[in-house]
Amino acid sequence: MKILNLNEGSFPIDLNFDIEHINIPTIGRLEKKLSVEVRILKVSKNLLKCDGHLQGTFIDTCQNCLKEIRLDLSSKIDVAFKDISELLLDSSDQDQTHYQDLEYFNIETFLDEEIGLIYPDIVKCNDHCIDEDIDLVEEKHLPFKKIRDLIE
Ligand SMILES: [Zn+2]
Repeated sequence: MKILNLNEGSFPIDLNFDIEHINIPTIGRLEKKLSVEVRILKVSKNLLKCDGHLQGTFIDTCQNCLKEIRLDLSSKIDVAFKDISELLLDSSDQDQTHYQDLEYFNIETFLDEEIGLIYPDIVKCNDHCIDEDIDLVEEKHLPFKKIRDLIE
């Protein structure tokens, strides 16, 4: 675990590290490791800015045909950090804000949240797999047709 005290020390903080385990049950499993490169800047007393990039490969399952696939995830990080105590006070309604205790800031908790947001909702082995699924739905209607034929 990487705990940072973001209330003290000198900025910017440059971090470059790998994660081997991601704590999100709803996404694929990490193939090797996820590489992270971030710079944390102090904008004002209670506002920090995190810029960077993350990249990794996941093993996941096509949600249509259940084939195992590799999914490359690569994304820019561009998020503001604020202390958790400001969560209820903040009316700015920014979605790119991550709230956490800035004195005991866990960078992996932030990254879990970030990966959960950028991970695709729909995982497919290829773009056409959904079309094949439609065919399957049509086939499922066939038994009803057969019963109708029998009745007639
Ligand atoms: Zn598929």
